[in-house]
Amino acid sequence: MNTYNWEEADVYEAEDGVLFGNCKVANTASGFGGTGYVEGFTDDGDSVTVTIEISEDGFYDLDFVSASSGGDYKENNVTVDGESVGVTSVQSSTFTDSILERIYLTAGTHEINISKYWGWIMLDEIKVKHSDDIDPSIYEVNRTLCNPNATEEAQRLYSYMCDMYGNHIISGQVSDGMYGLENTSIYNETGEYPAILGLDMMEYSPSRVAHGSVGNSVESAIGYWNQGGIVAYCWHWNAPEKYLSGVWYSGFYTEHTNIDLAKILNGQDDEGYELLMQDIDAIATQLKILQDAGVPILWRPLHEASGGWFWWGASGPDAYKQLYILLYDKLTNEYGLNNLIWVWNGQSADWYPGDEYVDIIGWDIYPGEHVYTAQTNTFLEAASISEDHKMIVLSENGCLFDPDLAFRDGATWGYFCTWCGEFVLKSDGFNTYGEKYTEKDMLMKVYRDERVITRDDLPDLTTYPINK
Ligand code: CA
Repeated sequence: MNTYNWEEADVYEAEDGVLFGNCKVANTASGFGGTGYVEGFTDDGDSVTVTIEISEDGFYDLDFVSASSGGDYKENNVTVDGESVGVTSVQSSTFTDSILERIYLTAGTHEINISKYWGWIMLDEIKVKHSDDIDPSIYEVNRTLCNPNATEEAQRLYSYMCDMYGNHIISGQVSDGMYGLENTSIYNETGEYPAILGLDMMEYSPSRVAHGSVGNSVESAIGYWNQGGIVAYCWHWNAPEKYLSGVWYSGFYTEHTNIDLAKILNGQDDEGYELLMQDIDAIATQLKILQDAGVPILWRPLHEASGGWFWWGASGPDAYKQLYILLYDKLTNEYGLNNLIWVWNGQSADWYPGDEYVDIIGWDIYPGEHVYTAQTNTFLEAASISEDHKMIVLSENGCLFDPDLAFRDGATWGYFCTWCGEFVLKSDGFNTYGEKYTEKDMLMKVYRDERVITRDDLPDLTTYPINK
């Protein structure tokens, strides 16, 4: 294994770059290198481009030495030669490292551009060094599900996924049922259905049922499983009626609720606790129907928590972890739901509840339009969270990624699951494929790639051998 360190890095000063918009060179903050730093990332389009020289083809780590104006957490966009490669992230008000790992660069010059996303940073310099090799053991995942009583069906499915992990990528799509518009659209273009159907427990939330919602995803799940497919679930948990402060059907968003999760969990709101337990009861009833029908579920509750835009993430990591573990305990031990493969989607190491509650680590990424990179840096961040080597999946995505890039970079996500609506469809209300996010050529490339598993490629999962 090669080990490079940052002392050997090439250093490029941001202040020597080409500045756009409000960006300007300053030198009043202390601790910078060179002759100054670039600030003024305030409006869309404000950016700096730095040209770097690479001597040989390979993978490189880029360190964006920067500081946050005011010390709040900030993310800003990075492109290489116009392609999105990720974001810089910084919270410190002093100059500090923000590293993007394993970006493939060919010999020659490349243009690195940092542009305003959240803005408000001071960018000092960009360091460039060879990447270390990926530790191949990240693909040797723990093959035992965290629930010791997991059903045979869940164990068979997970064994299959472990066998595929690292050498194949399982396709997935969120759609309203087996013949939902997105699925039909993809089938019409490629002749293939996604291996995984992504569904939602949202409409079974009691505060939606009270407004007339009728869930039907359980029927879709059973149908897809019986057609030889795999089922994944999230739960846009509509908060109990009492806590809805905006439109009822947006009651999973923090801004449409006034629920205080920390207060509920530390005993200051007993009624709230009871209401949450009743909601869990309602969802457990649906999951039980699926268990009785022999359907294992890739179960991804309390998703995207660290973003804070959903109420279950709005009280910080401790309340979230407490709720996650409570949910795990109730569903597993009280309801005996053993058909669940637990996909943790907290998206930040501080939010990780522990290996004993997690089978798979999922990340949701929406990098923009026609961005086909493999999001390698995020894959490696996800892979670094557990020493138990959990499987890493792209639990939601906007664009598809190019499988060639994923295998080149060593970022072979266990599965992807493209979100619904405009990410696949034209906005005409029909099943017409829309190219806003993923062009037809790339859709075809992905679904026809022999390393990408579609529904037809799946073996009979009801007899797949369990291997621990
Ligand atoms: Ca500098």
